[in-house]
Amino acid sequence: MRPALPCDLLVTADVMLTQDDERRVVDDAAVAVTAGRIAALGSRGQLSGFIPAQTLHLGRALLMPGLINAHTHVAMTFFRGLADDLPLMQWLMQYIFPREKRLTADIVELGALLGCAEMIRTGTTAFLDMYLIEDAVTSAVDASGLRCVAGEGIFAFPSPAYGTAEEGLALVEAQTRRWQGHSRIRTAITPHTVFTTTPRILEDCRDLARKLGLPLHMHLAETPEETDTCLATHGKRPLAYCRELDLIGPDVTFAHVVDVTEEELDMLAANGVRVVHNPKSNMKLASGVAPVAGMVARGMLPGLGTDGAASNNSLNMFGEMSACALLHKVYSRDPTVLPARTVLDLATRGGAASMGWPELGRLITGGPADMLALDLCSPNFQPLHDLTSHLVYAASGYELRLSMVEGNILYHDGRWMTLDYPLLLSETRKLKQWVQDNAL
Ligand SMILES: [Zn+2]
Repeated sequence: MRPALPCDLLVTADVMLTQDDERRVVDDAAVAVTAGRIAALGSRGQLSGFIPAQTLHLGRALLMPGLINAHTHVAMTFFRGLADDLPLMQWLMQYIFPREKRLTADIVELGALLGCAEMIRTGTTAFLDMYLIEDAVTSAVDASGLRCVAGEGIFAFPSPAYGTAEEGLALVEAQTRRWQGHSRIRTAITPHTVFTTTPRILEDCRDLARKLGLPLHMHLAETPEETDTCLATHGKRPLAYCRELDLIGPDVTFAHVVDVTEEELDMLAANGVRVVHNPKSNMKLASGVAPVAGMVARGMLPGLGTDGAASNNSLNMFGEMSACALLHKVYSRDPTVLPARTVLDLATRGGAASMGWPELGRLITGGPADMLALDLCSPNFQPLHDLTSHLVYAASGYELRLSMVEGNILYHDGRWMTLDYPLLLSETRKLKQWVQDNAL
Protein backbone atom coordinates (compact mmCIF):
# COMPACT_ATOMS: atom_id res chain seq x y z
CA MET A 1 0.00 0.00 0.00
CA ARG A 2 1.31 3.44 -0.98
CA PRO A 3 1.76 6.01 1.80
CA ALA A 4 -0.79 8.83 1.93
CA LEU A 5 0.44 12.04 0.28
CA PRO A 6 -0.87 15.44 1.22
CA CYS A 7 -1.79 17.94 -1.51
CA ASP A 8 -3.43 21.39 -1.55
CA LEU A 9 -6.22 20.51 -3.95
CA LEU A 10 -7.54 17.47 -5.78
CA VAL A 11 -9.61 18.17 -8.91
CA THR A 12 -11.60 15.36 -10.50
CA ALA A 13 -13.61 15.26 -13.73
CA ASP A 14 -15.03 12.76 -16.21
CA VAL A 15 -12.20 13.20 -18.70
CA MET A 16 -8.87 14.99 -19.12
CA LEU A 17 -7.06 16.01 -22.27
CA THR A 18 -3.44 16.46 -21.22
CA GLN A 19 -1.74 17.82 -24.37
CA ASP A 20 1.40 16.10 -23.07
CA ASP A 21 3.96 14.62 -25.49
CA GLU A 22 1.73 11.58 -26.09
CA ARG A 23 -1.47 13.70 -26.11
CA ARG A 24 -2.92 11.35 -23.50
CA VAL A 25 -6.64 11.43 -22.82
CA VAL A 26 -7.57 10.12 -19.35
CA ASP A 27 -11.04 8.99 -18.28
CA ASP A 28 -12.30 9.42 -14.71
CA ALA A 29 -9.45 11.88 -14.27
CA ALA A 30 -7.83 13.53 -11.28
CA VAL A 31 -5.18 16.20 -10.81
CA ALA A 32 -3.40 16.78 -7.50
CA VAL A 33 -2.14 20.33 -7.03
CA THR A 34 0.44 21.51 -4.51
CA ALA A 35 2.08 24.94 -4.31
CA GLY A 36 0.73 25.95 -7.72
CA ARG A 37 2.11 22.90 -9.52
CA ILE A 38 0.72 19.55 -10.59
CA ALA A 39 1.88 17.03 -7.99
CA ALA A 40 0.36 14.14 -9.93
CA LEU A 41 -2.27 13.45 -12.57
CA GLY A 42 -3.97 10.36 -13.92
CA SER A 43 -7.07 8.36 -13.22
CA ARG A 44 -8.91 8.86 -9.96
CA GLY A 45 -7.81 5.39 -8.86
CA GLN A 46 -4.17 6.20 -9.51
CA LEU A 47 -4.39 9.27 -7.29
CA SER A 48 -6.34 7.62 -4.47
CA GLY A 49 -3.32 7.90 -2.17
CA PHE A 50 -3.55 11.69 -2.00
CA ILE A 51 -5.03 13.38 1.05
CA PRO A 52 -6.15 16.78 -0.26
CA ALA A 53 -6.74 19.85 1.89
CA GLN A 54 -9.52 20.73 -0.58
CA THR A 55 -11.39 18.71 -3.18
CA LEU A 56 -13.22 19.85 -6.28
CA HIS A 57 -15.36 17.17 -7.94
CA LEU A 58 -16.47 18.61 -11.28
CA GLY A 59 -18.35 15.56 -12.57
CA ARG A 60 -19.29 15.83 -16.24
CA ALA A 61 -16.49 18.15 -17.20
CA LEU A 62 -13.41 18.12 -19.42
CA LEU A 63 -10.08 19.10 -17.88
CA MET A 64 -7.51 20.57 -20.25
CA PRO A 65 -4.54 22.95 -20.16
CA GLY A 66 -5.31 26.67 -20.28
CA LEU A 67 -5.15 28.25 -23.74
CA ILE A 68 -2.35 30.66 -24.59
CA ASN A 69 -3.02 33.91 -26.40
CA ALA A 70 0.40 34.34 -27.99
CA HIS A 71 -0.05 37.86 -29.36
CA THR A 72 -2.40 40.47 -28.00
CA HIS A 73 -2.76 44.01 -26.74
CA VAL A 74 -5.05 43.21 -23.84
CA ALA A 75 -5.78 46.80 -22.85
CA MET A 76 -7.21 47.72 -26.26
CA THR A 77 -10.70 46.61 -25.25
CA PHE A 78 -11.58 50.33 -25.11
CA PHE A 79 -11.28 50.49 -28.92
CA ARG A 80 -13.54 47.48 -29.55
CA GLY A 81 -16.02 48.34 -32.29
CA LEU A 82 -14.77 51.91 -32.60
CA ALA A 83 -13.44 51.76 -36.14
CA ASP A 84 -14.17 48.55 -38.02
CA ASP A 85 -13.99 47.71 -41.70
CA LEU A 86 -10.91 49.78 -42.54
CA PRO A 87 -7.44 48.95 -44.00
CA LEU A 88 -4.63 48.51 -41.46
CA MET A 89 -2.74 51.74 -42.16
CA GLN A 90 -5.85 53.94 -42.20
CA TRP A 91 -7.13 52.21 -39.05
CA LEU A 92 -3.82 52.71 -37.23
CA MET A 93 -3.00 56.23 -38.40
CA GLN A 94 -6.47 57.81 -38.27
CA TYR A 95 -8.19 56.09 -35.37
CA ILE A 96 -5.77 54.27 -33.08
CA PHE A 97 -2.49 56.20 -32.92
CA PRO A 98 -4.05 59.69 -32.38
CA ARG A 99 -6.03 58.46 -29.37
CA GLU A 100 -3.21 56.34 -28.00
CA LYS A 101 -1.08 59.49 -27.68
CA ARG A 102 -3.47 60.61 -24.94
CA LEU A 103 -3.65 57.36 -23.00
CA THR A 104 -3.28 57.41 -19.23
CA ALA A 105 -2.21 54.63 -16.86
CA ASP A 106 -5.74 54.51 -15.39
CA ILE A 107 -7.37 53.93 -18.78
CA VAL A 108 -4.79 51.31 -19.77
CA GLU A 109 -5.23 49.44 -16.48
CA LEU A 110 -9.02 49.48 -16.73
CA GLY A 111 -8.92 48.33 -20.36
CA ALA A 112 -6.51 45.56 -19.39
CA LEU A 113 -8.70 44.42 -16.49
CA LEU A 114 -11.64 44.14 -18.87
CA GLY A 115 -9.49 42.18 -21.32
CA CYS A 116 -8.30 39.89 -18.53
CA ALA A 117 -11.92 39.28 -17.47
CA GLU A 118 -12.79 38.26 -21.04
CA MET A 119 -9.76 35.99 -21.39
CA ILE A 120 -10.42 34.32 -18.04
CA ARG A 121 -14.05 33.76 -19.05
CA THR A 122 -13.06 32.14 -22.35
CA GLY A 123 -10.23 29.89 -21.25
CA THR A 124 -7.00 31.83 -21.75
CA THR A 125 -4.59 31.40 -18.85
CA ALA A 126 -1.43 32.99 -20.29
CA PHE A 127 -0.66 35.60 -22.92
CA LEU A 128 2.09 37.53 -24.68
CA ASP A 129 1.31 41.23 -24.62
CA MET A 130 2.67 44.45 -26.09
CA TYR A 131 1.26 47.88 -25.35
CA LEU A 132 1.79 51.42 -24.11
CA ILE A 133 2.18 52.13 -20.40
CA GLU A 134 2.67 48.39 -20.02
CA ASP A 135 3.25 48.70 -16.28
CA ALA A 136 -0.48 49.44 -15.97
CA VAL A 137 -1.16 46.24 -17.92
CA THR A 138 1.07 44.15 -15.67
CA SER A 139 -0.63 45.61 -12.59
CA ALA A 140 -3.97 44.43 -14.00
CA VAL A 141 -2.51 41.01 -14.83
CA ASP A 142 -1.11 40.71 -11.31
CA ALA A 143 -4.56 41.42 -9.85
CA SER A 144 -6.35 39.09 -12.28
CA GLY A 145 -4.18 36.05 -11.48
CA LEU A 146 -3.38 35.43 -15.17
CA ARG A 147 0.10 34.69 -16.49
CA CYS A 148 1.77 37.07 -18.93
CA VAL A 149 4.93 38.03 -20.77
CA ALA A 150 4.59 41.81 -21.10
CA GLY A 151 6.41 44.33 -23.26
CA GLU A 152 6.37 48.12 -23.51
CA GLY A 153 5.85 48.97 -27.20
CA ILE A 154 8.94 50.78 -28.50
CA PHE A 155 8.42 53.40 -31.22
CA ALA A 156 10.55 56.03 -32.96
CA PHE A 157 8.02 58.67 -31.89
CA PRO A 158 7.03 59.67 -28.34
CA SER A 159 4.60 57.41 -26.49
CA PRO A 160 2.44 58.44 -23.51
CA ALA A 161 4.87 56.34 -21.41
CA TYR A 162 8.16 57.94 -22.57
CA GLY A 163 9.76 60.54 -24.84
CA THR A 164 12.60 59.02 -26.87
CA ALA A 165 13.12 55.36 -27.65
CA GLU A 166 16.19 55.42 -25.36
CA GLU A 167 13.91 56.52 -22.53
CA GLY A 168 11.51 53.78 -23.56
CA LEU A 169 14.21 51.14 -23.17
CA ALA A 170 15.23 52.60 -19.78
CA LEU A 171 11.56 52.20 -18.80
CA VAL A 172 11.67 48.55 -19.95
CA GLU A 173 14.68 47.97 -17.69
CA ALA A 174 12.80 49.49 -14.74
CA GLN A 175 9.71 47.38 -15.50
CA THR A 176 11.88 44.27 -15.73
CA ARG A 177 13.35 45.04 -12.30
CA ARG A 178 9.85 45.61 -10.90
CA TRP A 179 8.61 42.18 -11.95
CA GLN A 180 11.86 40.25 -11.45
CA GLY A 181 11.15 37.00 -9.64
CA HIS A 182 7.36 37.21 -10.05
CA SER A 183 6.10 33.70 -10.72
CA ARG A 184 3.41 34.75 -13.25
CA ILE A 185 4.73 37.91 -14.87
CA ARG A 186 7.78 38.23 -17.10
CA THR A 187 8.88 40.98 -19.45
CA ALA A 188 9.97 41.10 -23.08
CA ILE A 189 11.54 43.68 -25.40
CA THR A 190 8.84 44.67 -27.87
CA PRO A 191 9.69 47.06 -30.71
CA HIS A 192 6.38 47.76 -32.48
CA THR A 193 7.18 47.18 -36.18
CA VAL A 194 9.92 47.83 -38.73
CA PHE A 195 7.99 50.87 -40.01
CA THR A 196 7.50 52.56 -36.61
CA THR A 197 11.14 52.14 -35.51
CA THR A 198 14.62 52.83 -36.94
CA PRO A 199 17.62 50.52 -37.50
CA ARG A 200 19.31 52.09 -34.48
CA ILE A 201 16.27 51.48 -32.25
CA LEU A 202 16.04 47.85 -33.38
CA GLU A 203 19.75 47.33 -32.66
CA ASP A 204 19.30 48.87 -29.21
CA CYS A 205 16.31 46.59 -28.59
CA ARG A 206 18.35 43.57 -29.69
CA ASP A 207 21.26 44.54 -27.40
CA LEU A 208 19.00 45.14 -24.41
CA ALA A 209 17.21 41.81 -24.96
CA ARG A 210 20.58 40.06 -24.91
CA LYS A 211 21.83 42.01 -21.89
CA LEU A 212 18.72 41.24 -19.82
CA GLY A 213 18.21 37.73 -21.24
CA LEU A 214 14.70 38.61 -22.43
CA PRO A 215 12.78 37.49 -25.51
CA LEU A 216 12.16 39.99 -28.31
CA HIS A 217 8.67 40.25 -29.77
CA MET A 218 7.61 42.36 -32.77
CA HIS A 219 4.92 42.58 -35.46
CA LEU A 220 6.52 41.54 -38.75
CA ALA A 221 5.53 41.12 -42.39
CA GLU A 222 1.89 41.78 -41.53
CA THR A 223 0.89 43.19 -44.92
CA PRO A 224 2.28 43.61 -48.47
CA GLU A 225 2.19 47.38 -47.78
CA GLU A 226 4.65 46.89 -44.92
CA THR A 227 6.95 45.04 -47.32
CA ASP A 228 6.71 47.88 -49.86
CA THR A 229 7.51 50.48 -47.17
CA CYS A 230 10.47 48.45 -45.91
CA LEU A 231 11.80 48.03 -49.47
CA ALA A 232 11.42 51.77 -50.12
CA THR A 233 12.99 52.84 -46.81
CA HIS A 234 15.65 50.19 -46.21
CA GLY A 235 16.04 48.50 -49.62
CA LYS A 236 15.09 45.13 -48.18
CA ARG A 237 12.05 43.04 -47.39
CA PRO A 238 11.18 42.96 -43.64
CA LEU A 239 12.82 39.61 -42.87
CA ALA A 240 16.00 40.41 -44.80
CA TYR A 241 16.13 43.75 -43.00
CA CYS A 242 15.80 41.96 -39.63
CA ARG A 243 18.52 39.52 -40.60
CA GLU A 244 20.82 42.40 -41.49
CA LEU A 245 20.18 43.78 -37.99
CA ASP A 246 20.90 40.36 -36.44
CA LEU A 247 17.32 40.04 -35.20
CA ILE A 248 16.81 36.46 -36.32
CA GLY A 249 17.08 33.74 -33.68
CA PRO A 250 15.31 31.41 -31.28
CA ASP A 251 14.60 34.13 -28.70
CA VAL A 252 12.68 36.21 -31.24
CA THR A 253 8.90 35.95 -31.72
CA PHE A 254 7.33 37.59 -34.76
CA ALA A 255 3.58 38.18 -34.87
CA HIS A 256 1.63 37.86 -38.15
CA VAL A 257 4.34 36.80 -40.69
CA VAL A 258 1.83 36.99 -43.54
CA ASP A 259 3.81 38.40 -46.46
CA VAL A 260 6.71 35.92 -46.61
CA THR A 261 8.29 33.85 -49.37
CA GLU A 262 9.13 30.13 -49.31
CA GLU A 263 12.82 31.01 -48.89
CA GLU A 264 12.00 33.28 -45.96
CA LEU A 265 10.04 30.45 -44.34
CA ASP A 266 13.08 28.19 -44.76
CA MET A 267 15.22 30.83 -43.07
CA LEU A 268 12.77 31.23 -40.15
CA ALA A 269 12.60 27.45 -39.63
CA ALA A 270 16.37 26.98 -39.90
CA ASN A 271 16.97 29.63 -37.25
CA GLY A 272 14.28 28.48 -34.79
CA VAL A 273 12.43 31.80 -34.98
CA ARG A 274 9.06 31.74 -33.20
CA VAL A 275 5.96 32.91 -35.02
CA VAL A 276 2.45 33.83 -33.89
CA HIS A 277 -0.51 33.47 -36.24
CA ASN A 278 -3.43 35.92 -35.86
CA PRO A 279 -6.06 34.63 -38.28
CA LYS A 280 -9.05 36.78 -37.27
CA SER A 281 -7.09 40.03 -37.18
CA ASN A 282 -5.50 39.20 -40.55
CA MET A 283 -8.91 38.41 -42.03
CA LYS A 284 -10.64 41.48 -40.59
CA LEU A 285 -7.92 43.86 -41.79
CA ALA A 286 -7.66 41.90 -45.07
CA SER A 287 -3.91 41.65 -44.46
CA GLY A 288 -3.60 38.27 -46.16
CA VAL A 289 -3.14 34.66 -45.09
CA ALA A 290 -0.03 33.59 -43.19
CA PRO A 291 1.45 30.38 -44.66
CA VAL A 292 0.88 28.40 -41.47
CA ALA A 293 0.62 25.02 -43.19
CA GLY A 294 4.04 25.71 -44.73
CA MET A 295 5.41 26.58 -41.30
CA VAL A 296 4.06 23.38 -39.76
CA ALA A 297 5.43 21.35 -42.71
CA ARG A 298 8.86 22.79 -41.87
CA GLY A 299 8.61 21.60 -38.27
CA MET A 300 7.66 24.99 -36.82
CA LEU A 301 4.83 25.16 -34.29
CA PRO A 302 3.46 28.71 -34.35
CA GLY A 303 1.45 30.14 -31.50
CA LEU A 304 -2.04 31.48 -32.02
CA GLY A 305 -3.11 34.97 -30.95
CA THR A 306 -6.15 37.17 -31.09
CA ASP A 307 -4.25 40.46 -31.53
CA GLY A 308 -6.10 43.33 -29.81
CA ALA A 309 -9.85 43.64 -29.34
CA ALA A 310 -9.84 46.54 -31.81
CA SER A 311 -8.87 44.27 -34.71
CA ASN A 312 -10.55 40.98 -33.83
CA ASN A 313 -12.89 42.03 -32.01
CA SER A 314 -12.74 39.52 -29.18
CA LEU A 315 -10.00 37.99 -27.03
CA ASN A 316 -11.51 34.52 -27.25
CA MET A 317 -9.03 31.79 -28.15
CA PHE A 318 -11.78 29.28 -28.93
CA GLY A 319 -12.97 31.63 -31.69
CA GLU A 320 -9.39 31.95 -32.85
CA MET A 321 -8.92 28.17 -33.10
CA SER A 322 -12.05 27.79 -35.21
CA ALA A 323 -11.08 30.70 -37.46
CA CYS A 324 -7.58 29.29 -37.90
CA ALA A 325 -8.77 25.84 -38.96
CA LEU A 326 -11.43 27.18 -41.34
CA LEU A 327 -9.29 29.90 -42.93
CA HIS A 328 -6.52 27.55 -44.00
CA LYS A 329 -8.90 24.97 -45.40
CA VAL A 330 -10.75 27.40 -47.62
CA TYR A 331 -7.55 29.21 -48.61
CA SER A 332 -5.83 26.01 -49.69
CA ARG A 333 -9.07 24.39 -50.91
CA ASP A 334 -7.93 21.35 -48.94
CA PRO A 335 -10.01 20.22 -45.94
CA THR A 336 -7.13 18.09 -44.62
CA VAL A 337 -4.96 21.16 -43.97
CA LEU A 338 -4.45 22.08 -40.27
CA PRO A 339 -6.59 19.39 -38.63
CA ALA A 340 -8.18 20.10 -35.25
CA ARG A 341 -5.36 18.33 -33.41
CA THR A 342 -2.76 20.65 -34.95
CA VAL A 343 -4.84 23.74 -34.23
CA LEU A 344 -5.25 22.74 -30.58
CA ASP A 345 -1.48 22.25 -30.44
CA LEU A 346 -0.97 25.79 -31.77
CA ALA A 347 -3.25 27.24 -29.08
CA THR A 348 -1.50 25.36 -26.27
CA ARG A 349 2.01 24.04 -26.91
CA GLY A 350 2.72 26.45 -29.78
CA GLY A 351 1.71 29.40 -27.62
CA ALA A 352 3.96 28.18 -24.82
CA ALA A 353 6.92 28.05 -27.21
CA SER A 354 6.04 31.50 -28.61
CA MET A 355 6.04 32.96 -25.09
CA GLY A 356 9.38 31.34 -24.31
CA TRP A 357 7.65 29.48 -21.46
CA PRO A 358 7.75 25.87 -22.70
CA GLU A 359 6.36 24.19 -19.56
CA LEU A 360 2.97 25.83 -20.24
CA GLY A 361 0.28 24.54 -22.62
CA ARG A 362 0.21 20.95 -21.29
CA LEU A 363 -0.80 19.13 -18.12
CA ILE A 364 2.20 17.21 -16.81
CA THR A 365 3.49 16.14 -13.40
CA GLY A 366 5.64 18.93 -12.00
CA GLY A 367 4.24 21.48 -14.48
CA PRO A 368 2.28 24.61 -13.59
CA ALA A 369 -1.34 24.01 -12.50
CA ASP A 370 -2.81 26.16 -15.29
CA MET A 371 -5.97 24.42 -16.42
CA LEU A 372 -9.57 24.69 -17.51
CA ALA A 373 -12.72 22.66 -17.02
CA LEU A 374 -15.45 22.77 -19.68
CA ASP A 375 -19.04 21.65 -19.28
CA LEU A 376 -19.47 18.33 -21.07
CA CYS A 377 -23.28 18.65 -20.81
CA SER A 378 -23.26 21.56 -23.23
CA PRO A 379 -25.53 20.67 -26.19
CA ASN A 380 -22.95 21.71 -28.79
CA PHE A 381 -20.59 18.96 -27.52
CA GLN A 382 -23.04 16.07 -27.91
CA PRO A 383 -22.71 13.19 -28.45
CA LEU A 384 -19.04 13.54 -27.46
CA HIS A 385 -17.51 11.74 -30.44
CA ASP A 386 -14.23 13.61 -30.49
CA LEU A 387 -13.19 16.09 -27.79
CA THR A 388 -10.48 17.76 -29.86
CA SER A 389 -12.90 18.30 -32.72
CA HIS A 390 -15.48 19.80 -30.35
CA LEU A 391 -12.92 22.19 -28.84
CA VAL A 392 -11.87 23.54 -32.24
CA TYR A 393 -15.09 23.40 -34.28
CA ALA A 394 -17.98 23.43 -31.80
CA ALA A 395 -16.91 25.22 -28.62
CA SER A 396 -17.66 28.90 -28.02
CA GLY A 397 -15.48 29.22 -24.92
CA TYR A 398 -18.53 29.98 -22.80
CA GLU A 399 -18.79 26.30 -21.85
CA LEU A 400 -16.03 27.14 -19.37
CA ARG A 401 -16.78 26.16 -15.79
CA LEU A 402 -13.38 26.54 -14.18
CA SER A 403 -10.18 28.43 -14.89
CA MET A 404 -7.05 27.96 -12.78
CA VAL A 405 -3.60 29.50 -12.93
CA GLU A 406 -0.81 28.38 -10.63
CA GLY A 407 -3.35 26.43 -8.59
CA ASN A 408 -5.51 29.52 -7.95
CA ILE A 409 -9.08 29.48 -9.19
CA LEU A 410 -9.81 32.51 -11.39
CA TYR A 411 -13.33 31.55 -12.50
CA HIS A 412 -15.75 28.96 -11.19
CA ASP A 413 -19.31 28.28 -12.32
CA GLY A 414 -20.38 31.81 -13.18
CA ARG A 415 -18.09 33.80 -10.87
CA TRP A 416 -14.81 35.58 -11.40
CA MET A 417 -12.88 34.79 -8.23
CA THR A 418 -10.02 37.32 -8.54
CA LEU A 419 -11.88 40.23 -10.19
CA ASP A 420 -14.96 42.09 -8.97
CA TYR A 421 -16.70 41.77 -12.33
CA PRO A 422 -19.90 43.73 -11.47
CA LEU A 423 -17.72 46.65 -10.33
CA LEU A 424 -15.50 46.34 -13.39
CA LEU A 425 -18.57 46.35 -15.62
CA SER A 426 -19.78 49.61 -14.10
CA GLU A 427 -16.28 51.13 -14.43
CA THR A 428 -16.16 50.36 -18.16
CA ARG A 429 -18.42 53.40 -18.67
CA LYS A 430 -15.24 55.42 -18.11
CA LEU A 431 -13.63 53.72 -21.10
CA LYS A 432 -16.47 54.69 -23.42
CA GLN A 433 -16.39 58.24 -22.08
CA TRP A 434 -12.61 58.49 -22.54
CA VAL A 435 -12.83 57.34 -26.16
CA GLN A 436 -15.62 59.87 -26.84
CA ASP A 437 -13.78 62.70 -25.06
CA ASN A 438 -10.71 62.03 -27.15
CA ALA A 439 -12.50 62.04 -30.49
CA LEU A 440 -10.50 63.64 -33.28
ZN1 LIG B 1 -0.65 43.22 -32.70
